[in-house]
Amino acid sequence: MQITRNHPDTSAGPAEHFNGTVWLDGIAAPRAPSGLRMFSVHFAPGGHTSWHRHPHGQVLHVTEGEGLVQRRGGPVEAIRAGDTVWIEPGEWHWHGAAPRTFMTHLAVVEAAADGTTTDWHPRAGVDEYPARGARDARHAV
Ligand code: MN
Repeated sequence: MQITRNHPDTSAGPAEHFNGTVWLDGIAAPRAPSGLRMFSVHFAPGGHTSWHRHPHGQVLHVTEGEGLVQRRGGPVEAIRAGDTVWIEPGEWHWHGAAPRTFMTHLAVVEAAADGTTTDWHPRAGVDEYPARGARDARHAV
């Protein structure tokens, strides 16, 4: 057993993969044979990921605020504190805050044998993300 008393150092989400302001706290990355990787991800209003997929899927559990998630071919969907999202292995998707609300979620993945947790789509933008001027994204989805 290991108890980590201090909050982890946070790191900014790199601009090549994240749009807007996003901070990531590493929560867990145990040694092999575990491939578990767990993060707490903090999205400022408008902050969101680029399109990406995970080789073994992903669990998102919203702990604070309101955000958005979309899988390829599906609608932009609102998610709120207490909601849990399962992303299928290989499913292209993005997630983040709504335009005018903060959102924090836990993100849990299992790394592939080569250590890969995420494949990022070469097209960085998310055309479907609601315009900042949208009055309330919850009513647009
Ligand atoms: Mn994801």
